[in-house]
Amino acid sequence: MKRLFLILTLAVNSILVALPQTAQLNNNSILPVRGFCIAAPQAKEVDRFIKFIDEELAPRKVNTLILRVDYNYQYESHTELRDANSLSKSDVKKLVEICRKNNISIIPQVNLLGHQSWAEKTGNLLRVYPDFDETPNVKMPEKYVWPNNDGLYCKSYCPLHPGVHKVVFDLVDEICNVFEATAFHAGMDEVFYIGEDQCPRCSGRDKAELFAGEVRTIRDHLASSDRKLWIWGDRLIDGKTTGMGEWEASMNNTHRAIDMIPKDVVICDWHYERPDQTPVYFAIKGLNVVTCPWRNPSNAVLQAQDMLKFRSHSTPEMREHFAGMVQTVWSGAGQFMDSFYGVKKDNDPNNAADCFKTLFAEIERLSTEK
Ligand SMILES: [Zn+2]
Repeated sequence: MKRLFLILTLAVNSILVALPQTAQLNNNSILPVRGFCIAAPQAKEVDRFIKFIDEELAPRKVNTLILRVDYNYQYESHTELRDANSLSKSDVKKLVEICRKNNISIIPQVNLLGHQSWAEKTGNLLRVYPDFDETPNVKMPEKYVWPNNDGLYCKSYCPLHPGVHKVVFDLVDEICNVFEATAFHAGMDEVFYIGEDQCPRCSGRDKAELFAGEVRTIRDHLASSDRKLWIWGDRLIDGKTTGMGEWEASMNNTHRAIDMIPKDVVICDWHYERPDQTPVYFAIKGLNVVTCPWRNPSNAVLQAQDMLKFRSHSTPEMREHFAGMVQTVWSGAGQFMDSFYGVKKDNDPNNAADCFKTLFAEIERLSTEK
């Protein structure tokens, strides 16, 4: 989902089970999930972000806030993995409190499996635990360019390393506990390195089975504390047959995993260039799905209308799987709020702030029409 963002930066059970309270409290909308996904704010931006939640998300009836936390928290289970200047427990509790007041469920995200590096920078997990690296032979470049000879987009951890889950599940448990979350988002998008030949554990194995195995391992861990797993959907779509390519779909044969993963995993189906009809594919497979636009307002409107059509033109069995819409934001929270409030004017008509406003205006219009 971050391909365009990368280019820019380099140039410069069911949903109702997952969200019982919000679904009941916000029954004045046509979509069970009305979501917003953004990087967790930096510590210094928390108060401003709380105001944004209260004054902008709540009146638009947003009921699900996916916060990409990663290492922006002062983990106590693994202090060695904290970012500098990360969120404190009291920062998080302020976020929890404002969301509780507004009936918004927070779903924290820590990227698991893929996205363990970004451009030249190795992420905290592999920097501290290099043994977990699926491709230790691929050295991080001094200056990152795409494409490159290593096919390096982002590093992955090895899902078969015997020590990796103990560490990452400590983080998952801690972040879910502090956010008082009933669901967790594991990312798992754009996994390019998986089942690599040089990995003594993964080489020769079926990549779809490796991917599905990791989804199941994470899902089962969460289920032991009655929590749901959310992931991005791109690895489950055949990039060749659909023409969707290697970013928003899979060109490394992970897509057959769609038939191997547990049915209570919620799929965040992101498409930023076209209003693709892929939610139908996930729903037919028995998976709950939300459609995720980013910065194209006219596509977001079509995607919201499609979601409504899918719900009204389906059997009851299928309808429940078309769960809603989630606006995704790929800048930091501070940068997004600057754009949203016009502090820094975004001259591109395709931007996440305008897409968000347009999407939720459309959901409101459709709700009124209904
Ligand atoms: Zn491996």
